[in-house]
Amino acid sequence: MTSQTSTTPSNDHLMGVYKRAPLAFERGRGSRLTSTQGEDYLDCVAGIATAGLGHCHPKIVDVLKTQGEKLWHVSNIYTIPEQTALADALCAKTFADVVFFTNSGTEAIECALKTARKYHWANGQPERIEVIGFEGAFHGRSYAAVYAAGNPTYVEGFGPPLPGYTQLPFGDMEVFESALNDKTAAVIIEPVQGEGGARSLPAADLKLMRDLCTQHGVLLILDEIQCGLGRTGRLFAHEWAEHSAPDIMCIAKALGNGFPVGACLSTREAAKGMTVGSHGSTYGGNPLAMAIGLAAFEELSKDETLANVRLVSGFFTQQLKGLQDRFPDLIVDIRGKGLLIGIKLTSNNREFMALARDQHLLVAGGGDNCVRLVPSLLMTQEEASEAIAKLEATLEVVRKDKAAAA
Ligand SMILES: *Cc1c(COP(=O)(O)O)cnc(C)c1O
Repeated sequence: MTSQTSTTPSNDHLMGVYKRAPLAFERGRGSRLTSTQGEDYLDCVAGIATAGLGHCHPKIVDVLKTQGEKLWHVSNIYTIPEQTALADALCAKTFADVVFFTNSGTEAIECALKTARKYHWANGQPERIEVIGFEGAFHGRSYAAVYAAGNPTYVEGFGPPLPGYTQLPFGDMEVFESALNDKTAAVIIEPVQGEGGARSLPAADLKLMRDLCTQHGVLLILDEIQCGLGRTGRLFAHEWAEHSAPDIMCIAKALGNGFPVGACLSTREAAKGMTVGSHGSTYGGNPLAMAIGLAAFEELSKDETLANVRLVSGFFTQQLKGLQDRFPDLIVDIRGKGLLIGIKLTSNNREFMALARDQHLLVAGGGDNCVRLVPSLLMTQEEASEAIAKLEATLEVVRKDKAAAA
């Protein structure tokens, strides 16, 4: 621990919005990271579900180099063949007819919310502005995104609330049904909540939500920024529920495998208000981002990738249940879907993350006192087994510390 701290820079000139671990990395390959101290770590964070194919995936590195020598950026003044190609690929594999490319998840959310309101405006119903979100959600950090999720700590101190945003309890379908009315523009939900602690919405609830939205003329926006792109073992999490395709869907994170790329996907109908001049982005969809996105999407969509997620997540779940049986005083719940796994703890989750780092295992935090495992979708079963052993070692330490404190 002290050796990590000694060479970690002070960060004095960085805005103090992050509580950073005193640990820095120099290189990565697959699910392995090497610290600036030359020590190896097993990575179950993957840049928060972002390096979906693992660090420095050789195919993505190749594309980065090749496109980097050809062309980076020209602006959406022009036709961008790489952008057309990625939009075609995304639409071929989803409900969507049209795509708007962004540099982040937040911007994809921003586009989705604007698209939804503009749709009703274009339909002659400008009064339909209400957006229903859910408690525990995370949609990003722009004004619209923080009000769509409503997390009090993310909106506090930033001035008067934006009108037209409400949150309902996650998974209470009766409350949901009674909340829809003729002012409702859209519903926004993560099929599996990420930051909220890997809470998965039952397939039947998503299906019912879809049906109710259709009945009431409300647009369904799915935030698949974290749970999409193979993370749950299907290309998109909503595919686990039949006939539950959204009107609009946001993706990002794994789409660039660490290079900033996001997208807002929509049916042609839902995007009818988004006409020339109504939205835009300087960087969004530039040739470099699109070449990388296209290569990453091809790898993420492969049957082998999705099959690996199902295999390794099955192994994780079974092994974690075993740990829960052995440490019932420390593990309260194992949840999530695919390789978006939440372990709800009785001890402090932040402290657990630090103790796991001592075992050279990286895990993410999450709401509801969870730690999250969101590793590369290409993690092997051997690596998963190593992660379980390191988690077990961490749990032993927590138990000893607890006994010592008692
Ligand atoms: C990460 C995330 C976002 C925000 O994406 P950024 O790229 O950080 O702007 C939005 N929604 C969900 C579900 C996320 O996990």
